[in-house]
Amino acid sequence: MTSIAVAGTPVDTRHFIGGSRVASDSTYTNTSPIDGSFLGEIARGGAHEIDLAVAAAKAAFPAWAATPPAERAAVLNRIADLVEENIEALSNIETLDNGGLIRSNRRGVMPRVAHNLRFFADWLVNHLGHPDFETRGHTNHISWDPSGVAALITPWNAPLMLATWKIAPALAAGDTVVLKPAEWTPLTASFFADLTKKAGLPDGVFNVVQGYGAEAGAALVAHPDLSRISFTGSVPTAKSIARAAAENLTPCSFELGGKSPCIVLEDADLDLAVTLAIEQYDNAGQVCLSGTRLLVHESIAEAFTAAFTAKAATLVQGDPRDAATDIGPQVHLKHLDRIKGFVDRASASGQNIVMGGTPNEELGGAYFRPTLVLEPTPGNEIVTAEVFGPVLTLQTFRTDAELIALANGTEFGLAAVVVSGDRAHADRITSQLVAGTIWVNCFFVRDLRAPFGGSKKSGTGREGGTWSFDFYADVKNTVVAPTGWADDK
Ligand code: ADP
Repeated sequence: MTSIAVAGTPVDTRHFIGGSRVASDSTYTNTSPIDGSFLGEIARGGAHEIDLAVAAAKAAFPAWAATPPAERAAVLNRIADLVEENIEALSNIETLDNGGLIRSNRRGVMPRVAHNLRFFADWLVNHLGHPDFETRGHTNHISWDPSGVAALITPWNAPLMLATWKIAPALAAGDTVVLKPAEWTPLTASFFADLTKKAGLPDGVFNVVQGYGAEAGAALVAHPDLSRISFTGSVPTAKSIARAAAENLTPCSFELGGKSPCIVLEDADLDLAVTLAIEQYDNAGQVCLSGTRLLVHESIAEAFTAAFTAKAATLVQGDPRDAATDIGPQVHLKHLDRIKGFVDRASASGQNIVMGGTPNEELGGAYFRPTLVLEPTPGNEIVTAEVFGPVLTLQTFRTDAELIALANGTEFGLAAVVVSGDRAHADRITSQLVAGTIWVNCFFVRDLRAPFGGSKKSGTGREGGTWSFDFYADVKNTVVAPTGWADDK
C-alpha cells in the first residue's frame, strides 16, 4: 500500500526523495489519536533513505542556489497558492493525524502555513539586505549566500506549521532541504511534498524522509553533507543531535521546551486574566509556548481560582472534528501515559490537584481532563518539568521580587504572559523576565518579523525574519578598496 485515503484525500505513505516516491523495506503503523483508528502503514526510513535524500538535496543545490531570488520567491508563492487551495484537505488530514482542532486548522493553522511561505518569499525579495558602509574609504558589502543542505527535524504538535517555519526560510535562502517529520504525524508533510512538485519546485530541492523513533533522525543529523540542522523538540533529543552535529561542526538551531509563567499581577483585569490563563490549555496543552505555571498575586488568588475553575468547567472536550470542541485528544496514547505519569506522581507526592487529574473516562482513548495543581511544593517535578499536556499549576506571590524569582526559577526561558492593568508595573516585570517572547495582556500574537526562540534550555538561536536568513545562509562581507582598479589609471 503506497497511498492511503485520509478523510477522502489520497496521501502517499512513502518518502519523497529527488522528486520521486521511494518505499522502504519496512513500515510502521500510524493511528489516529481521535479514536485509535488505523490510518496507514508509513515507510520506515533509516540510514539508507537518508543517504539517498541528502545526495538528492546535494545534487539539486547548485542550480537552486543559482536561481535568482525573485524566481525562488515565485515558486514559494505558488506553493502557498496550492496550500490555500487545499486548506480543507490539509486541515482534515492534520486533525486525523495529530488530533488538533479542525476549527483551529481551518481558521488559523493552515492559512498560517501559506503565510509562512509568502512571508519568507517576500523577505527574500524586499527586505533582505544591509546598506553598504565604508571603512576608511573601503566599501563593506554584506550578502546572504545559500549554504547547502538543511536538515529539518520537526515535532508533532503543529506538524505542518512548524515545518514550514523552517522549510520556507531554508528554501528562500537558496538551501535545499531534507525534512524528517515526527513519526506520529507523518501525513501533512507527505501531502505538502506533492504540492511542492505541482508548484514547480525542482526535483531534489525538497525531500521528506519518514522514520520511526530516532532511526531516520539520528542518521540525518550525523550526515557529513549537511550545512545546517534545525530542530524543534525536546531537550534530550537536542543534546543527542548536538553531539552528532559536533563531529561535522554542523551549525544547529534548537527550539526546545518551556515551563513558562503566566503572571497575573494584583492590578490585572480578572476576566482577561482568566481568559488568557484558560488559553494555556490550547491544543490540549501541547504547545511549547504555554504559560503552564500560573503565578497569581495572593490578594486576588482566591477570586482568580474560583473564576478559572468555573470557566474551565465549561470547556468542551471531545472529537476535534466537531467545531464545538475546545479540547481534543493528546497526540498519542503513549503521550497520554506520559502526562498521566506526571500527574499520578504529583498526586502520590501529596500535591493538591483541584481540577481534572485523570484521563476522561467517558471519552476513552487519549483524552486527558484539563487539570489544575494548586500551590505545588517548590521543586516538585510538576512545577519544574515540561508536561506538554493540559496540566497547569498555580502559585501565589506577595512581592515583585518573589514573583521574579519564581518566574525565572526554571531551566527554561521560552515565553511568558503578563496580565496587568498598570503599564509601568508591567514594564518593570517584563524587563526582568528571562524569556524569548513575552506577551502582555495577550497570548500567541506571532509576527514573523519578530525573533522567536528561547533562552537557557529552551533553545539556541532565533527564528523569524532576518534571524532565519542569518541561520540558513552563509553571511558574507565583501570589503572593496577604493583603489587598484584598471579604470583608476
Ligand atoms: P517529542 O518529545 O516532542 O516527541 P522528540 O525530541 O523526541 O520530541 O522528537 C522530535 C523529533 O525528533 C521527531 O521528529 C523525532 O523523530 C526526532 N528524533 C528523535 N530522536 C532523535 C535523534 N536521536 N536524532 C534526531 N532526531 C530525533
